[in-house]
Formats: sequence, structure tokens, C-alpha cells
Amino acid sequence: TVKTTDDIITLTEKYGAENYHPLPIVISEAEGVWVTDPEGNKYMDMLSAYSALNQGHRHPKIIQALKDQADKVTLTSRAFHNDILGKWTERVAKLTGKDKVLPMNTGVEAVETAIKAARRWAYEVKGVAADSAEVIAADGNFHGRSINSISLSTDETATKNFGPFVPGIIKVPFGDAEEIRKAITPNTAAVIVEPIQGEAGIIIPPEGYLREIRQICDENQVLFVADEVQTGLARTGKMFACEWESIEPDIYVMGKALGGGVIPVSAIAANKEIMDVFTPGSHGSTFGGNPLACAVSIAAIDVIEEEKLVEKSQQLGEYFAEGLRKINNSDLVEVRARGLFIGVEFNHPVREFCEKLKLEGVLCKETHENTIRFAPPLIITKENLDWALERIYNVLNKL
Ligand code: PLP
Repeated sequence: TVKTTDDIITLTEKYGAENYHPLPIVISEAEGVWVTDPEGNKYMDMLSAYSALNQGHRHPKIIQALKDQADKVTLTSRAFHNDILGKWTERVAKLTGKDKVLPMNTGVEAVETAIKAARRWAYEVKGVAADSAEVIAADGNFHGRSINSISLSTDETATKNFGPFVPGIIKVPFGDAEEIRKAITPNTAAVIVEPIQGEAGIIIPPEGYLREIRQICDENQVLFVADEVQTGLARTGKMFACEWESIEPDIYVMGKALGGGVIPVSAIAANKEIMDVFTPGSHGSTFGGNPLACAVSIAAIDVIEEEKLVEKSQQLGEYFAEGLRKINNSDLVEVRARGLFIGVEFNHPVREFCEKLKLEGVLCKETHENTIRFAPPLIITKENLDWALERIYNVLNKL
């Protein structure tokens, strides 16, 4: 029988594709901000499954919704209606301020959906000639792992030997809206950006960037697609990171915390004139909008609202970032923070720090070699953060 951390990792690596490089820890139980390994050691989760666990592990309200729905009906497919999809779409439409919502499962599927919507809209509404629609993306982006999403990517690790790629994609530097203006042609369907680049290392664009993109898109009849899969749903101290510049994209792309860390739930939200380009049979997903996902997602949104996770993220994010700025280490380059979405960049690789932090009981992960991402569940307390800071100082202070 398999029991210890080492046994489990050996088994996992023997039969599993090695497309990840996890820290050497096995999580066998979890609750709130805490996780436990098979030996009974406790750790604080400061990654939150890349922000899918904004509501914390196994939030009681979300688990209850899962159980209640599991006792009724779990899957109907979209061949038939189910009695909860409407309630969920209404909820997400109101949350985003958009007319309509299209459910998928994973983040990458929602990105795919947004690009398909934008292309059809370009042909059917804007009047772009067949098969010539273009999409503008930003260098350093992360939009997932499908062929379409990696076609948007500039990351060699994600793209090497996976070609040929999807045509009609133009890449521009992130953070400079003028580059987008220059890249626009009459065939441009959409500009897709993360309002804050997550996987790239919590890269916050210069103030005004999103507002300028909004304006450029308006002037040129181009759709603004905001990939809020990681930044959305309270992570950055706003419900959506676009609110930091008081703008609304044409299409919101959501995922991760939309499923409360329990079930994959993703979606796009947009107004009728965009969403109506989808006609029966033109797009879909067997599991998208399934009753179990809808029930879980409604509870996940309830928790964000009832527990004021937007405000908590903003306030505790400021507090935590202030603490992190006190790290005494001359190799520290910068602390970048919006709410509890924080990158601590060093002038050297930080994998070793993450491994040492794990030994101290703090779980986090490097992103792009030199940056440690801290993104704990938003239900975290100030006391929890103090506990973490003490351990972070132990590891990161260079005396
Ligand atoms: N878009 C962004 C901004 C993301 O951060 C991610 C995942 O990290 C995705 C899309 C892809 O989501 P998923 O892994 O659920 O397909």
C-alpha cells in the first residue's frame, strides 16, 4: 500500500506524464488556508491553485451546495434544459453587468470561446472578409495550453515543437497601448489581454493602459477581451481587475475561482450583439453548464459576496505587501501587488526559496524563475499573514 510522501511521488512520476515540476509535497487533506501531507505536517497554502481557491479549500457552503446538488441531478448535457443553469447565468450576467453568459469548464476553453466569438463577430457584424480576422495579443501573456492559446503565446517553453500555429495573430509588447494602435488593421477582431499578467510574474501595466485600450477598441470597432481567469473574482482587490481602471471589456473571460476550487467552471460574458453570433450547433461543451457546476458556482459567488472577499483582498493585500517590502535582502528587485495578488521578484532564480519555505510550512511557487507568487486564499486572516511573514523573513532575509 502507498502511504508516505516519497512512495506517492514515486508512483505519480512512474505512470504520470511529467509536464509539471511540482514541489516535493503531497497534499492529502485541506481546509481553509491549511493543507496536510500524509505524514500529518500542516502547511499554509499561499498559491491557492493559481487563484482557483479564492474561497479557500472546501468552503463549507460550497461543499454543501455540491452535496445537495449531487443528490438531485449532476449532468444533463445541453441536449435538455436543467433547472439551475438559468439561475447561474443570471447570477454571472449580473456580476459582470453583461447581457449573456456562455458556460464552459476550464479557463482555456473560455479563452477559446472568446476568440471564436470575436472572429464570428468580425465577419458577421463588422464585415471583415472571410478567413481574414486578426487578433492582437500581448507579449508574455498566458491564456492556457490549447493550440489557439499557445498560438497567442510568446513563451518558448509553451510553444516549442507544437506548431504549426493558428494564423491571424499579432503580438505586441505588453503595457504600451500605442503598440496596439499601430497593430490594428481593418481586419482586427479583438485585442486580448490579461489586465495584470499573472503567469508572467504579476506584471501590472502602467496606469492608463487598460483605459487606452478601451478607447482604441472603441475608435476602431474592435472587441476588448479581458482574460480575467486568474485576476477575476476578487483576487486583485476588485471583483474584476479591469475595475482598477474603471473600464469594462466587451468580453469577460472567467474561470478558476468561478468553481470555488471544487469543480472546473468557466465562462465568457458579453452583450447580446456579440453573444448572439453563436447559433445552435456552432459551439458548446458536454459538461459546460452542468447542474453540479452551476450549483457550486452560485455558492462560490455567494461566498465572495457574503464574506466581502473583494474588500478583504484589497485590505489584507496592502498589509501583506507592506510586510513583504520589509524583506531584508539586497537581491530583492521588486514587490508588485494588487490585492492578494503579489509577485516578489529577485535578481536570481527562486526555486530554492520556495523549497525552503515549504520546509517552514509556507507553500508558494516560483513563476518565471525569478519571481515568487503569493496568492493565498482570500479568506485568510491578518494573523495567518503574520504567521507567514515570520517564516518568509526566516527564509528570505539575507543577514
Ligand atoms: N488564462 C489565464 C489568465 C490563466 O492564468 C490561466 C491559467 O493559469 C488560463 C487562462 C487557463 O486556465 P485553465 O488552466 O483552467 O485552462
